[in-house]
Amino acid sequence: AVSDVISNKGEETLRAPICCVMGHVDTGKTKLLDCIRGTNVQEGEAGGITQQIGATYFPVENIRERTKELKADAKLNVPGLLVIDTPGHESFTNLRSHGSGLCDIAILVVNIMHGLEPQTIESLNLLRMRNTVFIVALNKIDRLYGWKAQPNKPVRKSLNQQSKDVQNEFDRRLIEVITQFKEQGLNTELYYKNKNMRETFSIVPTSAISGEGIPDLLLLLVQWSQKTMVEKLTFRNECTVLEVKVTKGHGTTIDVVLVNGMLHEGDQIDPIVTTIRALLTPHPMKELRVKGTYLHHKEIKAAQGIKITGKGLEHAIAGTGLYVVRRDDDLEEVKECAMQDMKSVTSWIDKSGEGVYVQASCLECIFNKKDPIILGVDVLEGILKIGTPICVPQKDFADIGRIASIRFNEKAVDHAKKGQKVALKIVGTNPEEQQRMYGRHFDNDDQLVSHITRRSIDTLKAYYRDDLSIEDWRLVVKLKTLFKIQ
Ligand code: GDP
Repeated sequence: AVSDVISNKGEETLRAPICCVMGHVDTGKTKLLDCIRGTNVQEGEAGGITQQIGATYFPVENIRERTKELKADAKLNVPGLLVIDTPGHESFTNLRSHGSGLCDIAILVVNIMHGLEPQTIESLNLLRMRNTVFIVALNKIDRLYGWKAQPNKPVRKSLNQQSKDVQNEFDRRLIEVITQFKEQGLNTELYYKNKNMRETFSIVPTSAISGEGIPDLLLLLVQWSQKTMVEKLTFRNECTVLEVKVTKGHGTTIDVVLVNGMLHEGDQIDPIVTTIRALLTPHPMKELRVKGTYLHHKEIKAAQGIKITGKGLEHAIAGTGLYVVRRDDDLEEVKECAMQDMKSVTSWIDKSGEGVYVQASCLECIFNKKDPIILGVDVLEGILKIGTPICVPQKDFADIGRIASIRFNEKAVDHAKKGQKVALKIVGTNPEEQQRMYGRHFDNDDQLVSHITRRSIDTLKAYYRDDLSIEDWRLVVKLKTLFKIQ
């Protein structure tokens, strides 16, 4: 299948973007494809280009070679580009609607001599309907009167070589096309002048006869898709955190479902920003939740249910995606995806922010004194959430463990709010150590608070500032003072 074209190099993590060519009849769609396929390819060597059923695959090495004159030292981290060969097909009209749905990105071909034509507008509407991003190839620039062809040159170089008359004519026609797009409600701009690629569509002047502008088109296709579609083109992000919990002998772990892609020991994961220490699965035939020993894996391919161990996993939130940061990644971009995910989950779990803070007092009904401690509490302030580390300020700030579960009105809940009386299960943080004990290390005269840190305050400030009420912030400040955090 077309979408199966992926990198086989392992270290690359993006799949090839799928591109289709659309536009009015005779604008040069077929010729443009031929040109992309054929130009600059040395004799006897197809540069790795492979013809597939209904599509052509361009490996990134080929694209790099053909775009080197653009001196874009940009990283190309997709393995290649897959272009659907629709124009030549008889059933093109039909395929056109399917093709655009399958595609990540499209080339909308416009004849510079004719401007927008009926099928251009039809294609445009299809693309808009499907929210497909596209690049306009303003084709047949060699037809401008007096044009001096510079075969296969980047288009800016070519334009600079033209006479003033040709340049003026080009500008005039370009402005006309931009105006026509405006009439369709679209902002377009010459690609190298386009400052806002997310709102303004780019125009690349091309000639399918001389090959001018083709390097620009190829580079823009690859760069734009890898810049704006990291999520869509990534195998790695189809991993969802099912549960965050303490596993005996492993500290806090996360149970995840790896739907697509691959995880390795040592992978850096976000949004928690930690490194995978171990990838564990139950022994065959045992379900992930069943207690016991685990099999260790160096790497695991989707689809699988996996338990992950590593530092800081208590900050993970069930229901969010897990993102792997690879060597070449734009960390900021990955982080942004991860954070958006986290926000969308936390906002339905709890509008008032991450429950890394709470103040609770013990009630009379102790169910279990240690390993785990099970007791009833009154939530006095803030929000109580699973995973929160709890300590006792009156007893020398003794850490008594982390909240493993919360029950309210006989039901398991993931958080509790001010004013609620809930039962808590608190497990030790360090499996090597004996858990502190109710009755010996603390009792029902003591107040429990979440053990906040500089890091948790920074997290709150960075990502949940607007979600916290003034009252919530007052508690954070109170705890900050209590813990003498600078
Ligand atoms: P399609 O119907 O959009 O697939 O258009 P074709 O690729 O079949 O091109 C239609 C005609 O325009 C053919 O005669 C091509 O040779 C010609 N053509 C396509 N691109 C260019 C170009 O960039 N410059 C010139 N001068 N002719 C072109």
